[in-house]
Amino acid sequence: MSRTSTIYVLHFDPPYSVRIGGTDRQKTAGHYVGSTAGDPVARMQEHCRGEGSPLVRAAVLQGCTVALVATMPGDKQAERRIKRSHHRERWCPRCTAEPLTAPPKVRP
Ligand SMILES: [Zn+2]
Repeated sequence: MSRTSTIYVLHFDPPYSVRIGGTDRQKTAGHYVGSTAGDPVARMQEHCRGEGSPLVRAAVLQGCTVALVATMPGDKQAERRIKRSHHRERWCPRCTAEPLTAPPKVRP
């Protein structure tokens, strides 16, 4: 049984962008999805201090504003299902008029 936790969505404004080494192509990230058993606001503040995801730390260093835009109940497995969807903007109320409010269902 998994512990009760909260999935949170961080939105980067502007999106974090980095050149792919030795090419003219850019890799961009507009969102970070994580989960915590504690307070998602406190967790976001940890990320912004560089005590979390390397992606969020890099976005902050690049000057992106990081906003906590959505939370929903869910565990690590549900967090992974959102990450695997490759469409994190679907859960972001700033990027989507009718954002999803729950993780994708487990496929049978
Ligand atoms: Zn967004």
